[in-house]
Amino acid sequence: MRCLLLFFLIPFLSFGQQTDTVDFLKIEASVQPKWDDRSVFGSTVVDFKILKDTDSVYLNAVNTKLFTKKDSLIALSSSDNKIWLKHDFKKGETYSVDFVYEAHPKKALYFTYDQLWTQGQGKNTSNWLPSIDDMNDKIEFDLKVRADKGKSVVANGKYVAHVDGNDKTTWAFDMQQPMPSYLVAIAVGDFVKKELTSDSGIVLEMYLRPEDSLKMEPTYRYTKEIFDFFEKEIGVPYPWQNYKQVPVRDFLYAGMENTTATLFSEAFVVDSIAFKDRNYVNVNAHELAHQWFGNLVTETEGKHHWLHEGFATYYALLAERHIFGNDYYYWKLYNTAEQLRALSEQGKGQSLLNPKASSLTFYEKGAWALHMLNELIGETAFKQAVKNYLEKHQFKNVTTEDFLAEVRAVTAVDITPWEKDWLKQSAFKGEQALNSLTNSEFLNSYFQLVALRKAPLSDKRGQLIWAIKSNNDYLAEEAVHQLVLEKGEGVLSLYQLAFSEGNIATRQALALSMETPISENLKGSYESLLDDPSYVTQESALYGLWVSFPSDREKYLEKMKYAYGFQDQNIRLLWLTLALSTEGYAPSAQDFFKKELQNYSRSDYSYEIRENAFQYIYSLGIVDEEVLENLVNGCTHHYWRFRDFCRDLLGELLKTPGVKEYLQAQMDSFPEKEKAYLKRVL
Ligand SMILES: [Zn+2]
Repeated sequence: MRCLLLFFLIPFLSFGQQTDTVDFLKIEASVQPKWDDRSVFGSTVVDFKILKDTDSVYLNAVNTKLFTKKDSLIALSSSDNKIWLKHDFKKGETYSVDFVYEAHPKKALYFTYDQLWTQGQGKNTSNWLPSIDDMNDKIEFDLKVRADKGKSVVANGKYVAHVDGNDKTTWAFDMQQPMPSYLVAIAVGDFVKKELTSDSGIVLEMYLRPEDSLKMEPTYRYTKEIFDFFEKEIGVPYPWQNYKQVPVRDFLYAGMENTTATLFSEAFVVDSIAFKDRNYVNVNAHELAHQWFGNLVTETEGKHHWLHEGFATYYALLAERHIFGNDYYYWKLYNTAEQLRALSEQGKGQSLLNPKASSLTFYEKGAWALHMLNELIGETAFKQAVKNYLEKHQFKNVTTEDFLAEVRAVTAVDITPWEKDWLKQSAFKGEQALNSLTNSEFLNSYFQLVALRKAPLSDKRGQLIWAIKSNNDYLAEEAVHQLVLEKGEGVLSLYQLAFSEGNIATRQALALSMETPISENLKGSYESLLDDPSYVTQESALYGLWVSFPSDREKYLEKMKYAYGFQDQNIRLLWLTLALSTEGYAPSAQDFFKKELQNYSRSDYSYEIRENAFQYIYSLGIVDEEVLENLVNGCTHHYWRFRDFCRDLLGELLKTPGVKEYLQAQMDSFPEKEKAYLKRVL
């Protein structure tokens, strides 16, 4: 028994809170990513202060080879994904150690086609940089990154110098304040940069690929407004030296709030047409809000994760209210309330303090909790509490109680019922939420309109006309959706009204909701959707027209032959598919169309384009050897959703006679990782 107990105790001891023993102060690291074998070579100087006498401390370093110096006073060794520093360490003393390492990251650092970027959340930075996984130890990181000449490098902090070598350039960055290791980031690629300066004098750097430079304004629209708004709204100056934002290829999330260096998905790179359909504003505001909530004050443990995500979601919503108005604010709250209520009604509601809660809970229920608290104690007290909370705990770690203490200090209102209903309870307080939502005049009108869904058209005609003419996107969209199930003469004039009076959003609702085939009476109106400044509308209308009016297919294809759409080329891929499916259309170009569509499955395109391409190619039955090889490549992609999609599709294709035999015969020509995957599934 005793042995068994000891066996269980040992890991416990070694995983105990190292933050009680040592405080890592500063890590100066010089890193050189190696593209050929996707490894990182680095040298670091680590400064730390001992808080309790001890004979060893460690850094986390996953899959890392250590090169030690013989004359080091502190003995270094690596085991167990850690670098151990051994010495007779004395309480109160500070020490410094330097070493060289080589890491082979399986995650956290990604080479994607022509870029390199990192993703450290929640404790992954140690895959490429020896550091501390525990977010309770905040460290000042000063990075140097060595990259090919001509590439741009972005990292945390202020760019201080670069030194040119023959074919490499070393970029140096300086941080002045400490942060948890998961917020360390680098990005290397071909970028152009635009700079703005906030009202308070902080430099805002915005990056894009050179070929996307015309998309700078729409992609980063409202960036300065959001920044200035937050400094006023939060009441605490932006805590870092500068702020940079970089879109990267095949990113794993919408965005990541690395300190001073947010990385985000290239899917948010938009032109001014795409801006109306989908844009970066929400993610822009969310990641910026984290620079205070998460980066300046950081949770001690997962139980308090809503202090990051709930706050970032709520403040992003406030920024959007500032830009897009009150109706938008309430509309988003209403939508998340519906999702939370549905979850709760299935008995799957979660407490905000549950460390294993879903994103919906941490983000949206967290935002709801803050919205309700703001209503309960009033805006002035709310702002004061947030300001005090940030100032008191800046550059430190926090718990929910730390925030609540500041709330209680500024208000006489009893917040105990709020704590119970919004923090601790797993069910969503739907009725309280609904009461709050009825503060919005617009939502009251919306609820009245929704109540008419089952009413006969003749009874609600007047209200639908009013809604379509209201120039409110959400009311007009609801009115259009109520037309879908209607038949007969009466509905036609309402559709015509929506086409002629409706704004871009109303017309998009028409494009998305009208059933095909489109009535001959609405043909002209429906055709006009192809000219709308919306890639969602154009894509949907092109398909609707192609299906509805076969004799005019060539006309529609000719009209849209230069349209590409979003970053994922939604219109181009649909167009190629339709062109290949239209008998008699451009016979001499058919082979080029086929090749172009197949080429979009190649690994030098983003996974969004590739996934769309694979779907169309599969549906057309034009999977050839090269597409098959591209698909096998997708089966080992770092982005799990795309990888799973490719694996499912390959599974389908393997049912086709000959595919398995072909891959078996070609096995040795695949790169190692792909070969390993094939061996598993064939
Ligand atoms: Zn977030």
